[in-house]
This record gives sequence, structure tokens and C-alpha cells, in this order.
Amino acid sequence: MINFQYARADGVADAVRRIAADPSAKFIAGGTNLIDLMKQDVERPSRLIDISHLPLKSVEETADGGLRIGALVPNSDLAYHPLIAERYPLLASAILAGASAQLRNMASTGGNLLQRTRCYYFYDTATPCNKREPGSGCSALAGLNRIHAILGTSESCIATHPSDMCVALAALDAKIHVAGPSGERTIALTDFHRLPGTTPQRDTNLQSDEIVTAVELPARGFAKNYTYLKIRDRLSYAFALVSVAAALELDGETIKEARLALGGVAHKPWRDTGAEAALRGQTANRAAFTQTADLILRDAKGFAHNAFKIDLARRVIVRALTQAAHGTPQSQSHKKIR
Ligand SMILES: Cc1cc2nc3c(=O)[nH]c(=O)nc-3n(C[C@H](O)[C@H](O)[C@H](O)COP(=O)(O)OP(=O)(O)OC[C@H]3O[C@@H](n4cnc5c(N)ncnc54)[C@H](O)[C@@H]3O)c2cc1C
Ligand code: SF4
Repeated sequence: MINFQYARADGVADAVRRIAADPSAKFIAGGTNLIDLMKQDVERPSRLIDISHLPLKSVEETADGGLRIGALVPNSDLAYHPLIAERYPLLASAILAGASAQLRNMASTGGNLLQRTRCYYFYDTATPCNKREPGSGCSALAGLNRIHAILGTSESCIATHPSDMCVALAALDAKIHVAGPSGERTIALTDFHRLPGTTPQRDTNLQSDEIVTAVELPARGFAKNYTYLKIRDRLSYAFALVSVAAALELDGETIKEARLALGGVAHKPWRDTGAEAALRGQTANRAAFTQTADLILRDAKGFAHNAFKIDLARRVIVRALTQAAHGTPQSQSHKKIR
């Protein structure tokens, strides 16, 4: 373990002041990702700024009918919050599909957004990794890449973003509230995480001196027709190979509004608004869902060990949309769809 300083922030402004004063400092919230990374020598902050006592732990209704979730609301509290369970069950399902009960008790909303990839080479400091050490190379390209990305990859990095929560937030059009030395701003969740391009060391568009203060959900929660479907190697306590957050608004069998986001397939939650637009006005049936899957995956590219994800993603998209259309979010597609 490396030596580091520890300080406790006594307010959001104090946290921002402290991080702006020390570029190699890091915030610590639940610590469930950062401490592991420090133990593995992947992250070497000179100072930990403890934000876990900041007053960012409430879930409040907004004037326009949505919710504002403080960055320090624990994942468990959020998933079981009555307003989330009732109005945004897609988000509750996604959170509960992640990690374990103990981890979800510790993990914060802000920390979940900023958790880092689970690429094996990122954690193994004996191997080259452009994300950990820019310019050193990407060991996954010609190495073991079963869990890696099939969409939006670059020659520098093919890692995936591991969060479940963020996939649901992408589908729900969430906004991230942040504060920094020059004030506050909001970032759409879909613009928060980045594709790797030539700078895979940057996971997000958050600046190093900014803090996430809240996540805002718009009023539309898709509580009737939704599914979070996560496919993984074990039934629990495993990251997604492919996951899909699907949400529909139906008028009879006609799709009025469709939202789809994929996890486990890209460096960020993958949303294709063109494919969503193509679903609007269509009848909710297997033909339309298969067409949507083909559209989303048109540019997917597999590597030596993960090409199976392309077909898997196609089937998961169709099944998730089918379950959402039937209003049976946890079903194994027991009803026949035409
Ligand atoms: C064994 C294991 C299995 C897991 N399985 C899953 C899974 O299946 N699905 C899933 O989605 N997740 C999974 N996780 C990840 C877990 O959800 C994250 O570790 C957790 O959400 C991180 O939250 P935290 O508060 O502990 O973050 P921390 O570890 O405290 O921080 C993580 C990062 O976020 C930064 N940070 C934290 N809060 C803020 C803020 N407010 N503003 C700015 N920066 C901030 C920190 O500086 C750090 O860089 C798993 C983790 C473990 C250890
Ligand atoms: S995929 Fe990304 S995180 Fe993994 S080794 Fe390559 S550069 Fe590093």
C-alpha cells in the first residue's frame, strides 16, 4: 500500500477547494472501487478527500416531476427508495443486478458513475495498458478479450464500462449535476462517459477538480413497460457480458416511445437514438425488435474471444424489448410474441 494523506471535506465547496489544490488527490466515497485500485497499485493518489459525510444523501422531488438523487445516496437505499421502486423500477432493477448486497450498502451513486473498467490488464501493472499508462499499448487487443467491447472501440482501448446503474440512467435520460471551482453545471448521462478514442485514460467528461453532487431523473419513468436484462457468467455477483435497459410507452400494440441502452458492450452505456426513433410508430413485435437489434449492432466488431457478444447482444435486445412490451420485466419470455 502506498502512503497517502487523508482529509475529510466539511462541505461541497471545501471538497472542491481541496481537490483543486492537489491534482493528484482523489475523492473517496464508499471506497469499494478506489481502495481495490490502490491495493493493486493502479491508482496512487497522494491524498484521499473523504466526501462520505457531505449532505448529499437525499432523494428529492423536482419542480418538473422528476427526482434529484444526492451523489452519496447508497446504491441499496436508492434501489429500495419507495419513489424509485414505484416510478423508476428500471433503475431499481439495474442497481439490484449489480455487485452484492454488502457492496451496494457501501457503494454511492457518484462512485458508481465513476467506477473504472474491469479489464484484467488495467488491474495488472505488469502488463501494458493505455488507460493506466498512456502510450504503453493495449494488452487486450491481442490478449484475452472475452469481456471486452464490441461497439465504439479504438486501437488504443477496447475496455467496457462496468456499471449496471448507468445503463438504466442512460435509458432514462438522466442528468449529472457537478460542481467545480468555476461553479455548477449539468452533463447529460449520455455525454458523461467517453469513448476511448486516443485518450482512454479519460473515462468521463468530469474535470479532475469537479465533484458529482447529484443525478437528476426526468419525470418520465417508464414504470409499466420496462426490463433490465443482464447476462453474465453467474447469476449474481458478476459483471455484465451484455445487459440491456429497455423502456417502452405503448398505445395498444403501437410503440409511442422507446428507450434502449446497452451495458457490457462499450466504453460507455451504449444508446442509439436512431434505432429508438425507428421503433416509434411500429407494432411491438419480434420483427420490429429484431430489426432494431440489427440496427444497433450494424457496426459491432468482435475480437478473438468476444465475437459471441454480437449475437448475444442481438438476442438480449429482442428478449428485453419483448419482456418490456409484455410488462413482464423479470419474465423468461414465457408469453409468446408474434
Ligand atoms: C466484487 C465487486 C463486484 C461488483 N459488481 C458490480 C456489478 O455487477 N455492477 C456494477 O454496476 N458495479 C459493480 N461493482 C462496482 C460497484 O458498484 C462500485 O465499486 C461502486 O458503485 C463504487 O462506489 P463507491 O462509492 O464505493 O466509489 P469509490 O470507490 O469511493 O470511488 C470510485 C471513484 O469515484 C470517485 N468518486 C466517488 N464519488 C465521487 C463524487 N461524488 N464526485 C466525483 N468523484 C467521485 C472516486 O474518486 C473514485 O475515483 C462491483 C464491485 C466489486 C468490488
Ligand atoms: S482494453 Fe483498455 S483498459 Fe484494457 S488493456 Fe487495453 S487500454 Fe488497458
